[in-house]
Amino acid sequence: MKIFPNVGSELAFCRDMYPGFSEIAEDIEDIVRALASDAARLQDDVPIPDDTSFDQDEADERFRLGKPLCPRVRVPRAVWESLVTTAAKGFSRMYPDQGEALTSLAEAMVRRAMDDGEESFALTDEKIDALLSVTPESDAIGPDVTTLFVTLALATAYRMHLHPDLHRLDTAKWGEAHCPICGQGAHYGMLDPDGVRLLECWLCAARWSFPRLCCPHCGLKDHEALGYFTIESLEMCPVYFCSHCSKYIKMFDLREYETEASNLMLHNLATLSCDLVASSEGFASTSKLCWTSMEEEQ
Ligand SMILES: [Zn+2]
Ligand SMILES: [Zn+2]
Repeated sequence: MKIFPNVGSELAFCRDMYPGFSEIAEDIEDIVRALASDAARLQDDVPIPDDTSFDQDEADERFRLGKPLCPRVRVPRAVWESLVTTAAKGFSRMYPDQGEALTSLAEAMVRRAMDDGEESFALTDEKIDALLSVTPESDAIGPDVTTLFVTLALATAYRMHLHPDLHRLDTAKWGEAHCPICGQGAHYGMLDPDGVRLLECWLCAARWSFPRLCCPHCGLKDHEALGYFTIESLEMCPVYFCSHCSKYIKMFDLREYETEASNLMLHNLATLSCDLVASSEGFASTSKLCWTSMEEEQ
């Protein structure tokens, strides 16, 4: 599997679908492509461990029990340092005045991942939480930019280590709202041309189906508590919420499109305004990702 599939065509699609995205689409494309080529260059240093492979029977057994596969991923220091440095360079083209602050953010990401002298780190849930909560030294870099920075670096690092067979596993026996492979909560999904609700993992890019009339966080099926809203010009990204647990998830409405929509991560980046509105309405994401900017919080 490519780390970020079909970047060019998916971005062109997103530019058409989500007005306003064009302004940053090029910068996003540069960052994503730079991370992908970094990953390709470093791939030889990253032997895919055997325990990241599962056969279908083994996987089904775990899926029936509601247990994600959670392959043990270990990221070498050289790989992580390279990815966060590449991300910092990419973001400094978007924020030319913040080059130094972005470099120090990259250094903070390395320190949070590993102690001095450690040559690799296990990409566990706890480590992901710790990296998502790094606060930049400079106020000029908001939490939303930090989230974008760290999610792109983490997604690259994680996907580099996955056995390619994992994405070919049938997930029909999986009935949970979190990811069947890595266990992270979903942040977005899509309604496909058949009206099926597919969730996609921000970290490992796995996809699985989940019932439409059910809250992905608390499992509530009460249609009075479940609803969605859209914001002007981003009608293709309805935000589904649950007023019982106050969580939201973005569902890209691709029912009218004959498209594979193979890279929903880019749709997510094109519709971050929806996250800001959801947050200002008092909803929190079903994932651990926070896109609230500093200004919004004040
Ligand atoms: Zn995942
Ligand atoms: Zn709920």
